[in-house]
Amino acid sequence: MEKNKIILKNCFIVDVNKENHITSGAIVVRDGKIAWLGHTTDIEWTEKSAKVIDLKGLTVVPGLINVHVHLCLSGEANPNLLNQSDIETTINVMDNSNKTLSGGVTTIRDCGCSNSAAIEVSKAIESKKIKGPRIVSTGRALLMTGGHGRFLGREVDGVENLRQAAREEIKAGAKALKVIATGGVLSPGTEIGAPELNYEEISAVVEEARKRGITVAAHAIGTTGIMNAIRAGVDSIEHGSYLTNDGIDLMKEKGIFHIPTLTAYHRVVENSNNSKMDSTTVQKANQAHDDNMKSFINSRQAGVKFATGTDAGTPYNPHGNIHMEMRLMEESGVSKIDILRAATIKGAELLQLEDRVGSISENKIADIIAVEGNPLENMDAIKNIKLVIKEGDIVYSTLQ
Ligand SMILES: [Zn+2]
Repeated sequence: MEKNKIILKNCFIVDVNKENHITSGAIVVRDGKIAWLGHTTDIEWTEKSAKVIDLKGLTVVPGLINVHVHLCLSGEANPNLLNQSDIETTINVMDNSNKTLSGGVTTIRDCGCSNSAAIEVSKAIESKKIKGPRIVSTGRALLMTGGHGRFLGREVDGVENLRQAAREEIKAGAKALKVIATGGVLSPGTEIGAPELNYEEISAVVEEARKRGITVAAHAIGTTGIMNAIRAGVDSIEHGSYLTNDGIDLMKEKGIFHIPTLTAYHRVVENSNNSKMDSTTVQKANQAHDDNMKSFINSRQAGVKFATGTDAGTPYNPHGNIHMEMRLMEESGVSKIDILRAATIKGAELLQLEDRVGSISENKIADIIAVEGNPLENMDAIKNIKLVIKEGDIVYSTLQ
């Protein structure tokens, strides 16, 4: 048998680019890449020396991409990493990476970690020391003193200090940056929607990111903070509740993504009666929930780009559940093919990886999942993960 070669046959292959889906398809994976795809009957005999997997009608889609997670959080009702040791945090990051992978997600962006654990684990995965998804880590989120997300970042104030902090995170290995432009749901004492880092501070971070060719994500809920982030030129607005038409127009013009993280609000609201949760968290999530969905519908209808980000790790929102965000997107009126795009090629575009992952195309990295059922007919089929291949390696399988 030829080394590093896998043939997947008898599958329905979803084409997120041109919708030229292939029935009874086959994919040849060689040296971590997609070497060929076509009809099963067209596989050349010479290819048959590889490990052949008969998928018996399963649907094959690109490895999914979740552009907003927190690997150091595990969905606790009241997350507080300030009391957690660095070793505990690292173990959580590794455990959550594994859950991510078995949920069919082969690429994530970690949007803020209490220390450098997500960066270090991403390096270990990249060098194949350990198994896990490809992680684009933002390192520690950048927030103002006393601002939202203290346990997921570092407090820093003023243009020059923000500039230095951005440089330090990049030096440590961050492949994107995260700024906290407003208050949020999870930090008691911060006002949801109140502006935090200002326009000049965010602009300095964007400038540093651009020098290295990396992107900036902004946590932004509330009109003023969202506008500060948009005007400063960030690449994605995370959450985006209370987004106005002016904001939507500017996002469209500048090509800024909206990552609504519908799951994060939904899970807190769904568990509102659970007394374990902080009461201000519940109250703030309820307050922002409806508007969050409304803002997403408005931005999408106006043509703003979007991708799937679950904010995994927040209360009752464990890792490995990207299907929840996909279902909520469907409830908001997005078509099934556009949801699959949001969870693959659009996420890849935001992470500047669209030349390498995000679709099943020849010469791209072989990040491939197989599911039972067809998500183009029933979105929930995306939950039925049978096989996950990352960079040509089988990293999860329930096939006999
Ligand atoms: Zn988040």
